[in-house]
Amino acid sequence: MHNLETGITSTPTRSHSAAMTWSGTASGSQPTTCIPALKAGLAEQGHELGDVRHLLLSHIHLDHAGAAGALVRDHPELQVWVSEVGAPHLVDPARLERSARRLYGESFDALWGELAPVPSGNVRVAGTRAAGLEAFPTTGHASHHISFFDGSTLYAGDAAGVRIQPGRTVLPPTPPPDVDVEAWYRTLDAIERRAPERLALVHFGVADDVSRHLAELRERLDEWARRVEDGMGEDEFVAAARGDLPDGERDDYDRAMPFWQSYHGLRRYWDTREERAS
Ligand SMILES: [Zn+2]
Repeated sequence: MHNLETGITSTPTRSHSAAMTWSGTASGSQPTTCIPALKAGLAEQGHELGDVRHLLLSHIHLDHAGAAGALVRDHPELQVWVSEVGAPHLVDPARLERSARRLYGESFDALWGELAPVPSGNVRVAGTRAAGLEAFPTTGHASHHISFFDGSTLYAGDAAGVRIQPGRTVLPPTPPPDVDVEAWYRTLDAIERRAPERLALVHFGVADDVSRHLAELRERLDEWARRVEDGMGEDEFVAAARGDLPDGERDDYDRAMPFWQSYHGLRRYWDTREERAS
């Protein structure tokens, strides 16, 4: 039995339609099994799934995009916005599934279940705009990551890190295969330039102490990258990551963003850089 952590967070928005972030399956429940929780969360806010016209995907990691195909099957009107690089993988998720199976091995099916394709007619490539919001590249966590901005709220995806509120600790999820630490610093600059009033995190909730939050993320990203660069092994890295957290929060963070994955993402980042340099 897997933990289900599906939540909806509304943020104030200038448009007449409500904007919300939905975090499905942070801790290993199948994305499609989060749909009932999504419906319940929407109902609490006086909406139903059929009212949702646009699904804005920051990137195609399965804990963000895994339920898109199933949602469109239920609601064929739904427009799914994604980066140009991500779009073909929604239409044909076979490659995505292969690479996730390599990472998750035998636990893939229990964790992720069915990855339904999104019909190409429902996929919208986000250029500089998406559903009335600004869209812009926020690479670092993933090479195809984008975020959305309405002038006050930044819909950050994973670009602003993971924070389990009301906790204050902000951690950088750095899973394989294409974490880019340097690019992530540039992303943090790009977010700061827009001076958002609040960060809508997918994992989890809305943060309004924006500059402190981003400063902490930058600091921890630097520290985590350095640990691996300096030769820390996986076990030691995981122990150090747990040591960064207050008592009682360690398991929650490790479930939301497994530290062993962050280790392997950073290891790969440094190995790839070395290969390129030699
Ligand atoms: Zn991700």
